[in-house]
Amino acid sequence: MDKVSVIRFNNVRENIARAVEQVNGLASLRPSDHILLKPNLVMWDNVYPFPKYGVLTSTVLMEEMVRLLSDYGCTKISIGEGSIIDRGFGSDTKAAFAGLGYHKLREKYGVKLIDFNDGPFTSVDFNEFSLDISAHALETDFFVNLPVLKTHNSTKVSLGFKNLKGCLATRSKMFCHHVERTLDDFICHIGEKIRPALTVIDGIYALEKGPVINGRAYRTDLIIASRDMFAADVTGARILGFDPAEIGYLREYANRHSLSLHSGETVGEKVDDVVCKLQWDWTWLEDNSGPEAFARQGITGIHFPKYDNTICSGCSYLNNYLLVTLMGAYANKPVAGIEFLGGKNCRSQGGADKTFLFGKCAIHANKENPVIKEAVPIRGCPPDKDKIISVLREHGIEADENAYTAYRAGLFKRYEGRADFQEDHFNPSK
Ligand code: SF4
Repeated sequence: MDKVSVIRFNNVRENIARAVEQVNGLASLRPSDHILLKPNLVMWDNVYPFPKYGVLTSTVLMEEMVRLLSDYGCTKISIGEGSIIDRGFGSDTKAAFAGLGYHKLREKYGVKLIDFNDGPFTSVDFNEFSLDISAHALETDFFVNLPVLKTHNSTKVSLGFKNLKGCLATRSKMFCHHVERTLDDFICHIGEKIRPALTVIDGIYALEKGPVINGRAYRTDLIIASRDMFAADVTGARILGFDPAEIGYLREYANRHSLSLHSGETVGEKVDDVVCKLQWDWTWLEDNSGPEAFARQGITGIHFPKYDNTICSGCSYLNNYLLVTLMGAYANKPVAGIEFLGGKNCRSQGGADKTFLFGKCAIHANKENPVIKEAVPIRGCPPDKDKIISVLREHGIEADENAYTAYRAGLFKRYEGRADFQEDHFNPSK
């Protein structure tokens, strides 16, 4: 395993370059190389402002990496990402680039901004399946992976390997949420085809119950760098409080390549001194009838079983919207006989008067389910937020977007008055 540096950021920009230097991160780089920087900009939201801490790669890390490469003499630098596309929230890659000030990086350093969602893609054969991967990601000379130090509700951690999934075409991303094959298995395989020359994990903030905005961020103030993505992820997982053997994709990759899951050599901070043990999963009620928040809000009578790994990021994001609007409609009001199902594996067990089927996959999985009394499809892949509200209202549920507005405002309150949470980390320097 290659060396990993774990360096305190301390709001000193030069510490980012120091983390890279400590592992000789640019050793194989030629100034004439085409470079692709891949941040984690999983989603954007042009409707509701959102706390970006631990969710998105910080602009301060991106800017310092661009500066470092530019100072090295590189002129062919690109930033590429394929964010969730959701018209209702105004989420797409270009909106994320604009919101994080990447246009200033383009003006200042001549960086090219690439939206992977625009293609082109190359079909890559993995023997038992194939995936469409951005040709930009496959063809670059020097791939720099810039994930965030965060947990994930399916793979437990979202670090270097998981960040590479953003290089896939939307259809292939959806395919990775498969009924028979785990997401861990897919991301292990993707990490064998896209080989970053350098991975720098943005640990200025870490995210609990990630990977998106409803998680809780902590200021961990770390930069973790390695030329070896597997070594970087093993270290990142340990810092998030996991035994790397608990992480499915790391275990599989170690098996396939005869690697040890024990951290190799680290420089800088001692890993044991910087561990920030975070939870990755959301807890559901014992009878699987809904999230624990249902009990706190006095909601009974709705059956909303926990999502599984077959639900992809788009539906997972909107699933949160659905839950919050339902909680707004039903807090402390008795209700009976409705259920909500989502994902590719869900099958109604009967007993509900109305079964709301959230998204194309749930509709398909239950299309000939004889135990359903009344199926209510919420169409879309994923459904859009206005559609969710209109279908709920058509069926007598007083869903109200204001509940979601209040919830989103509440997410910011977590960080209010906290000097260690700095919005300017997500803007380029003046
Ligand atoms: S309906 Fe939802 S879970 Fe199914 S493919 Fe579309 S986004 Fe994924």
